[in-house]
Amino acid sequence: GKKEEEEEEGEKTLRSPICCIMGHVDTGKTKLLDCIRRTNVQEGEAGGITQQIGATYIPADNIRERTKELKADAKLNVPGLLVIDTPGHESFKNLRSRGSGLCDIAILVVDIMHGLEPQTIESLNLLRMRNTEFIVALNKVDRLYGWKVCRNAPIGKAMKLQSRDVQLEFEHRLTQIITQFKEQGINTELYSKNKERGETYSIVPTSAISGEGIPEMLLLLVQWAQKTMVEKLTYSNEIQCTVLEVKVIEGLGTTIDVVLVNGVLHEGDEIVVCGFQGPIHTTIRSLLTPHPMKELRVKGAYIHHKEIKAAQGIKITGQNLEHAVAGTALYVVGPDDDVEEIKESVMDDMRNVMSRIDKSGEGVYVQASTLGSLEALLEFLKTPVVSIPVSGIGIGPVHKKDVMKASVMLEKKKEYATILAFDVKVTPEARELADDIGVKIFIADIIYHLFDQFKAYIDNLKEEKKREAAEDAVFPCVLQIMPNCVFNKKDPIILGVDVIEGILKIGTPICIPQRDFIDIGRISSIENNHKPVDYAKKGQKVAIKITGSNAEEQQKMFGRHFEMEDELVSHISRNSIDILKANYRDELTNEEWKLVVKLKHLFKIQ
Ligand code: GDP
Repeated sequence: GKKEEEEEEGEKTLRSPICCIMGHVDTGKTKLLDCIRRTNVQEGEAGGITQQIGATYIPADNIRERTKELKADAKLNVPGLLVIDTPGHESFKNLRSRGSGLCDIAILVVDIMHGLEPQTIESLNLLRMRNTEFIVALNKVDRLYGWKVCRNAPIGKAMKLQSRDVQLEFEHRLTQIITQFKEQGINTELYSKNKERGETYSIVPTSAISGEGIPEMLLLLVQWAQKTMVEKLTYSNEIQCTVLEVKVIEGLGTTIDVVLVNGVLHEGDEIVVCGFQGPIHTTIRSLLTPHPMKELRVKGAYIHHKEIKAAQGIKITGQNLEHAVAGTALYVVGPDDDVEEIKESVMDDMRNVMSRIDKSGEGVYVQASTLGSLEALLEFLKTPVVSIPVSGIGIGPVHKKDVMKASVMLEKKKEYATILAFDVKVTPEARELADDIGVKIFIADIIYHLFDQFKAYIDNLKEEKKREAAEDAVFPCVLQIMPNCVFNKKDPIILGVDVIEGILKIGTPICIPQRDFIDIGRISSIENNHKPVDYAKKGQKVAIKITGSNAEEQQKMFGRHFEMEDELVSHISRNSIDILKANYRDELTNEEWKLVVKLKHLFKIQ
């Protein structure tokens, strides 16, 4: 049989590597994808390129054709290359199958004019974390001043045709970028000079607009993949399949878009996928791919397949798929398999995520597009610097029911009546309900931005509370009246004082413990060297004005109700201490807190 032949030759059948495009915003990821797919040229899906679900398939023949000018004798063992259609690192993060990354190889796009940018570094970290091979596309070379366009030419050839100035500018920028990579602990080298593939990553200069360098990039991708990951790319019958997206399609009901990484799927296969409310056990009703002829691509025009072999992007229809969770693995139940066992393992990822919900029941509500992105977000919220508790989670668009769930916090902790929506839409009804009942929704497609928004909101709330509390907050101080410094004996009392302990602030109510704790009014102004100030610290000598807040206080007089030797002290209470603790914990020194405790005893506060 065929299999034996292969074994005799010592060659294994390889599947197509799966490739993902990553990089900072505006570096040209989308344009580069267009360029690879040739959607920017007249002939459309030319040379056997097929549009799949969520991915584009470039057959090896097409790559051979496009790289023939390189005379590299492109020895390609893989059937082709499968490029994921949604560029960006979020999709890379989400696409997992059995714990490891779905992508075999990535193109990391860097703008030659900008060098490494924040999301380039984020992408790099992800690639490192997942141990994913990549090549760097140093894009927008056509923007070098004086660049002569050589449409779709190999970059080696195009570079030779450039002026000395262009070549020098290129060299200069390349060197800088190699240094930037080195600062991130990554060795890179221009592809043509790179002899240590695997240790040193290759940089291919490209233009996604005029197509220079695309031949080298394609060849390198495939060669690198088939050279460094034979094991991983060896075709196997064991199903490896990831759910990319869950979509309702008119006439088909809820469908799941999957990438089949390995194995063969058949119509009628019994499958198990992770569901938000438990494992989903169903059968494949149909296996669909888009119609290759654009004109025929009217709504619902899909090709039905009896079976499909990896690697492929496929749409699957079947019953009960409504609650399927994007970003999780799809399992096929074989004749000898124990369904219950598969149901267990399918929910592993989900349990892992569930375990991150705060046990106290207090926290924000978190909504993300896939399980992978939800995990990433939860992980981030857990880090010590961020430390935001989570009380509930959801996947997919934010609906009214999610707002209802988040609103439970309105009673418990208002600031947690918040939905952090990561890379998902909010339905208009949900938005309306949230506005009505006071649930906050923050939306972002970068995790950090969500955090920034939430933090700004919390800080704002804190400020507001502080302003509300300011009236009732009483800072601790002990004042000594200075000799010959009584400027006005009765309301408003004006005195020169020595701050012997604590901190003196405007608004502080003052009383005299030695005289039955009589209240004489609040500090209405403070002057230091004839200049008005808001506060005075221990050791300072200042002039103060004390204004009575009521008729009784306004009666109090120096010389009749109190004397030179009496200490003036902040009149604190249980409530004022609580407010200080809640809002000003960090603003008081240890010594000042000790004074609070001392005054607490003095006033016999429990
Ligand atoms: P993405 O955000 O990374 O997907 O970037 P896009 O593909 O949307 O490109 C961002 C902008 O850069 C667009 O205006 C593109 O036309 C432009 N652009 C992308 N690649 C190139 C290139 O190679 N050369 C030049 N001159 N412009 C490019």
